[in-house]
Amino acid sequence: MEVTLKQAGEIILKAQNIVLSSHVNPDGDNVGSTLGLYHALKGTGKNIRILLDDDLPDNLGMMEGLELYQKPEKELENVDLLVILDVDIDRIGRVRDAVKAPVLNIDHHISNSKVCDYCYVDAKAAATAQIVYSLIKEMNVPFNQQCAMCLYTGIASDTGFFRYSNTTPFTLRAAAELLEAGARPDKISEIFDQRSFSSVKAAGRAIDTIELHENGKIALMTVDKALKESADNTEGFVNFARNIRGTDVAVMIKYADENVTRVSMRSKNTNVSEIAQSIGGGGHIRAAGATVYKNLDEAKEIVLNAIVEGMKKQNA
Ligand code: 5GP
Ligand code: MN
Repeated sequence: MEVTLKQAGEIILKAQNIVLSSHVNPDGDNVGSTLGLYHALKGTGKNIRILLDDDLPDNLGMMEGLELYQKPEKELENVDLLVILDVDIDRIGRVRDAVKAPVLNIDHHISNSKVCDYCYVDAKAAATAQIVYSLIKEMNVPFNQQCAMCLYTGIASDTGFFRYSNTTPFTLRAAAELLEAGARPDKISEIFDQRSFSSVKAAGRAIDTIELHENGKIALMTVDKALKESADNTEGFVNFARNIRGTDVAVMIKYADENVTRVSMRSKNTNVSEIAQSIGGGGHIRAAGATVYKNLDEAKEIVLNAIVEGMKKQNA
């Protein structure tokens, strides 16, 4: 059932034992919205736990509370509410089995299927952290500095540091208020962009793999097993392909396992959420992804075909 932001706030304030979770392959908005909500609520005397069925990337150290993350190893007792942020219920891995409680889903993905007990989905919101910012105001809970650092990170992460088309006047006003509450933009961008030496070198090799298709409209980057292992974090790699003049759809396909390939798409015009959904994934109109259960070579054919077909269909 769909709820208003006010109702979402009431549902949270009514619950005592809350579990927060988000999607596998975590990113800045995923962790920023989760920890932002955690820090805002921690003064309310609630018992809040954070579960995530994945490891955290190494560039989110600007946020306090990363040590609170636990993997869903066993079923948790006594949970009043599971809050799933920045994703549909289908991408939270084993959290789904570990927590049996009513689910409040707060998300900004256009592909969200809205099947949870309580859903608040605003596909126009630049980031889930931006929705959490509004939610905290709705609940009349003050922002503290830790919360502001997390929400600013989430918003910055999903807007490419306020450069993408999802950046609105509201986004910038929210960011301004988070700065007033103590967010440090210099520290956030420095830590977010930091990479290991080997990861920066790997970016160079990843750039070398870029191929153009369809007269340069599609730029495809391939990260194979060896490359993935030398790049501990490939966040942002796809942007090198996106930056090529004349390119509409940029896609990175990355080895995940022998028959599992991760796909990341970015676009300037084409709706890549629709294309991602056609191969079992989802996301936003200009940033989407999927997991294809094929090896890298097979996945490449499938993904390229899906993009070519999707572009044809959308331009028909
Ligand atoms: P990224 O390319 O950065 O991994 O993801 C881009 C956007 O697409 C993010 O908002 C992410 O949550 C979404 N996304 C990525 N992979 C998947 C997927 O497999 N399924 C769905 N539904 N969304 C995805
Ligand atoms: Mn997001």
